[in-house]
Amino acid sequence: MLSRESLIGMSAAFIVFLIARGVDVTPLLMLGGLGLLFYFALDPRGLGKRFSLSRGAGEVQATAPVTFDDVGGQEVAKRELLEALQFVRDTQTVEHLGIRPLRGILLVGPPGTGKTLLAKAAAHRVGASFVAVSGSQFIEMYAGVGARRVRQLFKKAREQAARQGRNYAVIFIDELEVLGARRGQHLGHLEYDQTLNELLVQMDGLAGDQEEVRVLVIGATNRPDLLDPALLRPGRFDRTVRVDLPDKKGRLHILRIHCQGRPLHPEVRLEEIAKETYGFSGAHLENLVNEAAILAFREGARTIEPRHFKEGIEKVMMGEKLDRSPSAEEKERIAYHETGHALLSEIVRPGSVAAVTITSRGQALGYMRQMPADDTYLFTKQDLLDQIAVALAGAVSEEVFLGSRSTGSVGDFEQAVRLAERIVDAGLSDLGIVNPQTLNPETRHDEVSRILCAQEEYVRRCLEGLRERVEKAAARLIEEERLSGEAFRRLIGHP
Ligand code: ATP
Repeated sequence: MLSRESLIGMSAAFIVFLIARGVDVTPLLMLGGLGLLFYFALDPRGLGKRFSLSRGAGEVQATAPVTFDDVGGQEVAKRELLEALQFVRDTQTVEHLGIRPLRGILLVGPPGTGKTLLAKAAAHRVGASFVAVSGSQFIEMYAGVGARRVRQLFKKAREQAARQGRNYAVIFIDELEVLGARRGQHLGHLEYDQTLNELLVQMDGLAGDQEEVRVLVIGATNRPDLLDPALLRPGRFDRTVRVDLPDKKGRLHILRIHCQGRPLHPEVRLEEIAKETYGFSGAHLENLVNEAAILAFREGARTIEPRHFKEGIEKVMMGEKLDRSPSAEEKERIAYHETGHALLSEIVRPGSVAAVTITSRGQALGYMRQMPADDTYLFTKQDLLDQIAVALAGAVSEEVFLGSRSTGSVGDFEQAVRLAERIVDAGLSDLGIVNPQTLNPETRHDEVSRILCAQEEYVRRCLEGLRERVEKAAARLIEEERLSGEAFRRLIGHP
């Protein structure tokens, strides 16, 4: 057989020969170029290997030693997944009872909540080999490429399992919605539809008993609404497991996992950190622990201290500290704005300010960070009104103490409007129970304005009544740039 190199050499010599004979080789070169393009696009060993399953994010991985103990929180998801895995393991009983073999499990939830970890742990639990790919790796311009990659994926998963002497293979497909979106939605070319069809064919072909290597497909998505219904039909992804943001207990568990083996200062209270990190995903928490360790390293500290964690939380929430240097006038405005937020936060929920600062981070010129209340799933009308008051307090404070407002409150107003609309939609406003779809926009707007004006008035009264304390706190904030919740409370006393 001729090697690729000798073929290239012979072609080059042939072209030189033609040129020497005075032949116009332009069409030949163009044809050759096109041929090469197709070759590399379709051949996984060629240029196209950037997208192939043998490299990059979609690489075939050796079973990572991830167990369910490495996954913090997610107790419900773990329980459901474990139950589903029983079907995979206990094939005899499953066959005896005539239960259809489980071919696919769908993990649904926001990014960074541990779906990949759960899939790896599942593979480990059933002693399966593990292959991870992302839906976007299958989508190409050329019709048929995606479908080919799907076939390759199943083939590789089986081959890998056989090589490792395993009876099972778990294929994990992240971002399933990219590969499995409803068919017929991508006008222009059929590539998406062909790829999805191939996945369905492959999943239907997972015959179970006849196969030497059983394949279980675990898909992950945060947009199950985009999936083609055919994927959710029985016999495909017929188990859906929700993987939600962790609650306080879950966050503590995840923090413990990621702090294992790290030198923590004895005063670090992971319970406190779990409380302060409402809304964080597992990935955020892992990032927080890492940031805290980096801060300790930068300072040359031997242990990770509580203040490193506090700064880490702010970094994960708001982004990196910036070197923006506002003018003295702007600093004063930012200080009054943030003090306004903080004061109202202490009035409506004493002890709720975690920190207030006029240092720029990410998009914010300054910010007030609240200690979240215990994980809350229901809000009364008063809770929402209180949140509106805190949101509006920045702008009102600027107006009361500096005589005018600025553009720095746009985000606060958006938040306040959203909250007021929630009051209306939930039937908690003076309009009573409404149908949000048919509610006249003008009536809705009037009611939202009424709620916002009433809260604005309330905030103004609070701030004017505590003028001296606000001035004192703002002056100290300008001086120190950052005040902890405790320091702020000492300054304002009991409002
Ligand atoms: P995506 O949807 O963005 O792919 P995902 O839900 O698959 O995210 P993972 O990739 O599993 O999330 O998590 C990313 C990282 O976050 C993990 O490697 C781990 O360090 C951390 N992490 C996330 N969730 C958990 C958890 N429940 N327990 C422990 N660590 C977690």
